[in-house]
Amino acid sequence: MEKYTPTWPVIGHATVVAALRRHVMKGSIGHAYLLHGPRQIGKTTVAEQFAAALLCSVQERAIACDECQSCRQRAAGVHPDFHILLPTVNSETTFGRPIITLEQVRQLQAALSHRPVLARRQVAIIVGGDSLQDKAANALLKTLEEPSGNTVLVLTCDALEQLPLTVRSRCRQLRLSTVATAAIFDALRAGGSSPSVARQIAALSAGRPGRALQFLHSSDQREAYVAGLKDFGRLASGTLSERLAAANALQQRLSAADDASLAEGLRQQLELWQTAARDRLLNAAGCPHLCQWTVEDTAGSSPAQWRFFLDTLRDVRAALGLNASPRLALEVLLLSLPR
Ligand SMILES: [Zn+2]
Repeated sequence: MEKYTPTWPVIGHATVVAALRRHVMKGSIGHAYLLHGPRQIGKTTVAEQFAAALLCSVQERAIACDECQSCRQRAAGVHPDFHILLPTVNSETTFGRPIITLEQVRQLQAALSHRPVLARRQVAIIVGGDSLQDKAANALLKTLEEPSGNTVLVLTCDALEQLPLTVRSRCRQLRLSTVATAAIFDALRAGGSSPSVARQIAALSAGRPGRALQFLHSSDQREAYVAGLKDFGRLASGTLSERLAAANALQQRLSAADDASLAEGLRQQLELWQTAARDRLLNAAGCPHLCQWTVEDTAGSSPAQWRFFLDTLRDVRAALGLNASPRLALEVLLLSLPR
């Protein structure tokens, strides 16, 4: 029987978790870390477990005990030495893209200037470092350039290239990749899901544990995702008039929303299309067994066409990250769909 080795409660990412635990156990803790990789992959979960291990007063083998005063206060969200910055949508936001403002960074810096109260050090997680406004990133540089001896910053980001190089270069960078479907299936089964539900959710999650948990907790969102995949099928395989009708319906649905929910809706839609288009590329290339989702007939479209669509999709997603208009982005994409 395999020996049970305790570790952090994280789905996948064994190499990154092992590296961070080694830093804690050896006491060779950096002043700043950057966890990067796709959305919903578990970056914040890993960052939180790292913070928990750093703050726990009795941790053994770099695992938080969950029982000491430090662990209890952190779990209750009232630890004086633990800080978390989240991007928000506010008056300075364009097209609903959440941002981290200069004011947020200044408040964090003020908090970090005090000595730790309960733990040996202060720990701050900055979720979505790629949402830092330029002024905020510049201000943060000061903390990164002149770190105090007892603070640890952990940044997460989806799009590494959108974080200034000056910030990136001052962090220890760790990349998180998509997690094996089997590992997500096992985690869902261990959590009590039936084999059929676990299999469907694991397949739909596209290697993202965060998405798997989202679908586990909301069957509405799961069904909407499946419906979205089917819509994409109709969009991709329909006649020109069917395609235009589907595009119109989608535009109307999206334009009924305000800019913030439009941008978020579009981001989710594009991720879904990426999954669906990648499946069609695999199917057209003769590898249907690698598809995440059952693909209807893709006769008439070539792998090159789907590759072109995926390239356009990637460019459009990058442009959206740089505040391009969601409506314009949608039009560009619909024009590049294979016929
Ligand atoms: Zn503890």
